Amino acid sequence: MSNTATPSQSANNPPLASSPHAADSGNDYEFFRVIQGYIDQASKIIELPEYIHTILRQPKNEIIVNFPVKLDNGKYQLFKGYRIQHANILGPYKGGMRFHQDASLDDFKALATLMTWKCALMNLPFGGAKGGIKFNPREHSQEELQRITRRFFHALGSNIGPDYDIPAPDMGTGARTMAWAMDTYMNTVGMVSKQAVAGVVTGKPIASGGTYGREKATGQGVVHCIADWAERERFDLSGKKLLVQGFGNVGSHAAVLLGKLGTSLSAVGDHTGYLYNPEGFNVHRLQKYVQANGSIAGYPNGEAITREEFFGIDADIFIPAALENQVGPREAEVLQVKLIAEGANGPCTPEGEVILKQRNIQILPDLLANAGGVTVSYYEWCQNKRSEQWTLDEVDAKLEKAMREAYARMVEFANLHDCDYRLACYGVALQRLKAVYDEREIFP
Ligand code: NAD
Repeated sequence: MSNTATPSQSANNPPLASSPHAADSGNDYEFFRVIQGYIDQASKIIELPEYIHTILRQPKNEIIVNFPVKLDNGKYQLFKGYRIQHANILGPYKGGMRFHQDASLDDFKALATLMTWKCALMNLPFGGAKGGIKFNPREHSQEELQRITRRFFHALGSNIGPDYDIPAPDMGTGARTMAWAMDTYMNTVGMVSKQAVAGVVTGKPIASGGTYGREKATGQGVVHCIADWAERERFDLSGKKLLVQGFGNVGSHAAVLLGKLGTSLSAVGDHTGYLYNPEGFNVHRLQKYVQANGSIAGYPNGEAITREEFFGIDADIFIPAALENQVGPREAEVLQVKLIAEGANGPCTPEGEVILKQRNIQILPDLLANAGGVTVSYYEWCQNKRSEQWTLDEVDAKLEKAMREAYARMVEFANLHDCDYRLACYGVALQRLKAVYDEREIFP
């Protein structure tokens, strides 16, 4: 890597945290408390009645299941699965299923809570949920993954359902996982209801009741937000440099779609390491390589760099699209970009964000930036209910309109209450929930 791109490291700017995967806060990071902190701040802005605040600070249901799976080698392993249901006052619980070795109850509570605000911000008739299994899917064959997925969804039983709780893909899961999940659920409800429950999960493959446009939806939503931001800021995207952390579903689609607007991917990272190419990566080729090989490792047209070097590269836009807790104070000090568009959930820590603000680095928050996925999941659910198949053009047009309208709601709130975009997203969402509680109060 060239010297010009190496981040400066002086006494005032010490090396980054030693953890290869997380910001300074490392393993002690309490994601759920961070999210509660944002709720507390936004509640003050909109003067949310105390009883609603108290209810919304905690998830409604925390479901944990332990289930056995027979492995390919004939041995049995016990897995722990989670489903956290945060709120359903606006509609059925909705949110992804994550398969990751570092996943914890705390993460799922935080992620479920984020889903409630995300759906409310997007005006979707859903509440929030999240779940998954704490294990590394990369260590298992396709046959084992199928058995793990099916046993997990069987163990969840009637805790999910097309009008009750609707899972979707997240990190470590995808369309194939959702096809197994739907099929398992269908086989538990009996023959006569089988076809009526296709909407029990979204993010399915097209042939199994999925929608056109869902696979790229989250990345597409990120790109709509960046385009909207660029128009408002009079920032020409053509020729601008991009950093992407996480090159899975969200990161790769965002990079490919943003490339169509003229950007160039300078550096990319995933769980195997980081690569740099000052000329810009061929994003289509890189995406195909990762789909075939499972990671960026071994990709020939890039120079290996460290995580520390990645964050210091001179670029214009950074898209975190991997895990939470990635941009702490140290990363915030060295980032050279103008904009962070949060493809991942919770990538910036509150401490990191303070420094980003001081350095005038703008943030398009997760609640808006990665809401394209759940929005198109809603379109899939509608199509399943009506036995329809919308065209890609229809889905794309609806998504763009939905993203732009939500962006406008965020800006309007931020201007009215003189707050940042993250609190504005929470504020818009909480106002919607408040209106419903004001009308109904609580049972009995
Ligand atoms: P994915 O499994 O398709 O891809 C995850 C990527 O992150 C991979 O490239 C992986 O190698 C990388 N990664 C994992 N651990 C890493 C580490 N320690 N350091 C650097 N990179 C690492 O997952 P995805 O669906 O693209 O989800 C990515 C993020 O986007 C998550 O935060 C998820 O919650 C969020 N999100 C996803 C969707 C969706 O529709 N899939 C919707 C909204 C938000």
